[in-house]
Amino acid sequence: MHDRIYYVWNAEKVKANSRRSELRDPERYRRLKREYMARKTKLISTQVIGHYSDWKFACMCCGESERDFLSIDHVAGNGNKMSRELGIPREGYQLYRWLFNNGLPSGFQVVCMNCNLSKGKHGSCVHERNLR
Ligand SMILES: [Zn+2]
Ligand SMILES: [Zn+2]
Repeated sequence: MHDRIYYVWNAEKVKANSRRSELRDPERYRRLKREYMARKTKLISTQVIGHYSDWKFACMCCGESERDFLSIDHVAGNGNKMSRELGIPREGYQLYRWLFNNGLPSGFQVVCMNCNLSKGKHGSCVHERNLR
């Protein structure tokens, strides 16, 4: 999956003869690297969010589907403590990469920022509480 991007990046690197051109044209080198990282981040986050949302790309609680609002939630709760013990990154790209590199283990779900916040505050999302 990364092969093509890796190949493009690698070809650029080889063509640029990395070090020397990095010195000669650090701006271009940084831009290429940033573009490569951005593409890789997008690929991985798409795989991870897709996997944990049954490919719905939506919050499992309220159905929010704006990608900017979606995050990964540790279902077992106590996320912080458990994550720390297992050495799982808390959030963001570090977490996506960790999940991806660890074969997308079970026990995580996709929720939006609101539900995540609410769950963190009350132990369960206010949506769930209102259903009771
Ligand atoms: Zn939600
Ligand atoms: Zn909710």
